Amino acid sequence: MSIYEYRPLLIFSVIMAACLGAVAGSFLNCAALRIVRGEPFVKGRSHCPHCGHVLGPMELVPVISWLVQRGRCRACGAKISPRYLIAELVFAFATVLCLLRFDLTALCLRNWVFLGCLFLLTLTDLDAMIIPDGCHIVALLAWLAALPFVGMGRGEIVAHLIAGVALGGGLLLISLAMDKIMGRDTLGGGDIKLLAVVGLYLGPIGALFALVLACVIGLLFHALGRGEGARPFPFGPSIAVAAAAMLLYGAPLVAWYRGLLF
Ligand SMILES: [Zn+2]
Repeated sequence: MSIYEYRPLLIFSVIMAACLGAVAGSFLNCAALRIVRGEPFVKGRSHCPHCGHVLGPMELVPVISWLVQRGRCRACGAKISPRYLIAELVFAFATVLCLLRFDLTALCLRNWVFLGCLFLLTLTDLDAMIIPDGCHIVALLAWLAALPFVGMGRGEIVAHLIAGVALGGGLLLISLAMDKIMGRDTLGGGDIKLLAVVGLYLGPIGALFALVLACVIGLLFHALGRGEGARPFPFGPSIAVAAAAMLLYGAPLVAWYRGLLF
């Protein structure tokens, strides 16, 4: 079944995807905050960080509750960070794009899980320069679990495996050499593992484009963030944004480049 078969189904699917994405975005944002604080991943009920007021069902509705309460806690009136609203909206948007690009397929579900992992590690890396191993593990398991359903040929599977190993292993060697030369840590271990997973999902050409794009985005962020204190900008978010862009819209670019080669 395709969402493009008729218009009411398309509209319904987009609305459902947006709602599901907002709920998932809310969950991932809370999970990121808990990981950064070192709290158990899923523990207790959601509460106001200022007064401890346990949120009722209506206060848990993503996006709407923040807007209705105008970004304030219902009990104590303390400001709730717009981060909650932004996280929910961004992941709702990403979910809709994923559905529109991959339709109702196993590939859509697999790539949505990958986008969730990228989103979570972007938040934790921005907050505390942490890339949880759980993100790589979940992405890897989703890739493996979806293999029988996504119609990849044996050659393609091997190419993607090699891309993962080569990108992760290659960058590990480069970063070890750079560490020796520069006398400090250059690329984090989390970044290297992330790039291995990106290679697995995007294949050799897609992953190389993602790497170049990640460097461009990283340099842009670096240029924009200069002067605001000496905190180095983590590389993980740049890799995540580049990988998501290539996952969703990279196919024409990869096809064009293949055409140049063969
Ligand atoms: Zn409160």
